Amino acid sequence: MKELEERILKDGIVLEGDVLSVGGFLNQQIDTGLLSRMADEIKREFSDEPVTKVLTVEASGIAIAIAAATVFGVPAVFAKKSRTSNVVGEVYSARVHSFTHGTDYLMSVPKRYLAPEDHVLIVDDFLANGEALQGMISIVGQSGATLAGAAVEIEKGFQGGGDRIRSTGVRVFSLAVLDSMNRGVLTFRPSHS
Ligand code: 5GP
Repeated sequence: MKELEERILKDGIVLEGDVLSVGGFLNQQIDTGLLSRMADEIKREFSDEPVTKVLTVEASGIAIAIAAATVFGVPAVFAKKSRTSNVVGEVYSARVHSFTHGTDYLMSVPKRYLAPEDHVLIVDDFLANGEALQGMISIVGQSGATLAGAAVEIEKGFQGGGDRIRSTGVRVFSLAVLDSMNRGVLTFRPSHS
């Protein structure tokens, strides 16, 4: 998505350890116009899927998940993160290694929010090594729901997670794919649409 790529070049900040900060327009202060145009793009891409739920993981995926769910006219569900493995109650859960924090956490969703008849679209802000996405894919699998695919705002293609997940047959759509962030110079993978 050209508008997103241009905004990343203008306002994105490359931090240590291949982390891109987009706090000024996506993650902390949110450009709501851009957010809703990104949601429209996601809807366009997955218009052939009978999506019934959008799933993300707290916290930074929630904004785009709500925007996308609004366009589809379905509920947005988010997985909660916890440090302990003692998640209480009837939940689907998956252990995930956090790229940005370097620690493991457990993501969990109450069983009552996902049913076998659901068609789930996973949405997140970033796709790096793919751990967060794999965790959510596992949760959808545990619920018996159908996975429509996954949409992310920014994929860091050079970390390989997106292509690894695509190779398992999951439909992964990224609004912007970074091929490199070497020495602060950002290059994008040409889009197919
Ligand atoms: P993965 O699990 O694919 O390695 O990383 C995805 C998760 O880590 C996303 O949910 C996102 O919150 C966080 N993340 C990964 N890379 C970045 C980055 O460069 N910038 C920011 N702000 N978050 C990132």
